[in-house]
Amino acid sequence: MTTTTKYIFVTGGVTSSLGKGIIAASLAKLLQAQGYRTTIQKLDPYINVDPGTLNPYEHGECYVTDDGAETDLDLGHYERFLNVPTSQSNNVTTGRIYQSVIEKERRGEFLGKTVQVIPHITDEIKHRVQILGKSGDYDIVITEIGGTVGDIESLPYVEAVRQLKWELGENNAIVIHLTLIPYLSAAGELKTKPTQHSVKTLMESGVMADVLVCRTEHELPEDLRQKLAKFCNVRPEAVIQSIDASTIYDVPNLMLDEGLDKVVLKKLALDNSHADLTQWNQFLTRHKNPKGEVTIGLIGKYVELQDSYKSILEAFIHAGAENEVKVKIESIHSEYLTSDNAAQQLKHLHGVLVAPGFGERGIEGKIDAVRYVRENNIPFLGICLGMQMAVIEYSRNVLGLKDANSTEMNASTANPVIDLMESQKTITDKGGTMRLGAWDCELLDGSISKEVYQTNAIKERHRHRYEFNNDYKQQIETAGMKATGLNPETGLVEIIEIPDHNWFVGVQYHPEYKSTVANPHPLFVAFVKAALNFKTNNNSVSMAQN
Ligand code: GLN
Repeated sequence: MTTTTKYIFVTGGVTSSLGKGIIAASLAKLLQAQGYRTTIQKLDPYINVDPGTLNPYEHGECYVTDDGAETDLDLGHYERFLNVPTSQSNNVTTGRIYQSVIEKERRGEFLGKTVQVIPHITDEIKHRVQILGKSGDYDIVITEIGGTVGDIESLPYVEAVRQLKWELGENNAIVIHLTLIPYLSAAGELKTKPTQHSVKTLMESGVMADVLVCRTEHELPEDLRQKLAKFCNVRPEAVIQSIDASTIYDVPNLMLDEGLDKVVLKKLALDNSHADLTQWNQFLTRHKNPKGEVTIGLIGKYVELQDSYKSILEAFIHAGAENEVKVKIESIHSEYLTSDNAAQQLKHLHGVLVAPGFGERGIEGKIDAVRYVRENNIPFLGICLGMQMAVIEYSRNVLGLKDANSTEMNASTANPVIDLMESQKTITDKGGTMRLGAWDCELLDGSISKEVYQTNAIKERHRHRYEFNNDYKQQIETAGMKATGLNPETGLVEIIEIPDHNWFVGVQYHPEYKSTVANPHPLFVAFVKAALNFKTNNNSVSMAQN
């Protein structure tokens, strides 16, 4: 069989959370920097059809693509590293695989055959892996397989990899196995045994690893690399050390130093020249040498989990580097924020971001936070639910509509300033039914947004069911809050601003999903800049009050 696209599979062993996504993204970055058109795909072995219905406590943030896929947060890393959009095809779960096979079975497409894991489920997995390759858009497709080899639910994926490796032939498909080399402090030694066992488990399924990437807290000595090569059937240069890094953005350089791209290209019989990381390293230099610092409060209800607001935190890293400042994030739990303690919790901040979210828990704290920053001129960015809270706060405290609310929180409020979208009213299923993906938005002349984006029309990614209720638009605008971004077809309000305020912007969409190393998001860049101005103009609230 001839093929033009090359496939790299990334499997994991020993434990989860070794950073397969970052290794995959870093390798992709190096291959892209060598001139290869590269994309990354994630296969998730769980039964949910997509992670859209998962609580952030389970799997962290749900990431959204332009074409409206609700995906694993690793796709965010892929986009941030590569600056190339992903799509529905870049994330597939076991639930999705079974759903398509069962639908085909119901349509009679298997012509009376018994439908089985092998070949029907594995064929569907192989088909999904090759969709991106067959599009003609990519030279290399990296497929990351979620979970750990040996898990019952990973078996069909490993079997599909075994078949594909065989069908595609040598030099067209390789396997990188990411594993852990634990350090036993009592013995003062790094241990290879768990890796040997994990490679053996992979081999029992008929899959031989071509490259071993070894997560370690200490440098791997040469003799240990030789030992791993011998016991695990890989060449010594294919034993790659992945040592803990202070930032995920260091990993491409660490992999470059270890020669991961070189080993991979050789195995794929592709030319190896030189990975040009100039632009990447310029970002790193700015990120690591800030000339100042701003403190921004992130107000949400999942703040104790570092993965729940992943894209927001990364967007601040990009925007900080762009402004050459360190953005210190202070996570503030909205459930414990009240009008009585808002000043104490927020007065030292140079900016406040009210996070997206669902449901009633913690919303009154968000509303109290918005009131405090609005009244004290602290730069504010509200995202999705955060924007909706800003509209509710303004309606309650400026318009005097004391019971203003979202019908998500109180279905019978007399003043539903945020209400269910018309198109949502007949929908009962929860999965994949929100307003999802990229939608057009037109920006009004004279607005902060237009100045920030430097254009009339933008496309940003959405994930919500509720919206600004246009029945209140005139009242709200007369009072001073303006709708500055509108969907041109439906008139849905996508952006609100308060022109009299220092910097007050709420967006119904999620700008964080589109921020990348190469393209920091303009709204985050402008927000950090506003926070910096607020700080340098000495008009922080704490100074005024002290
Ligand atoms: N819960 C709100 C809605 O569905 C906001 C969603 C969000 O913040 N992503 O409209």
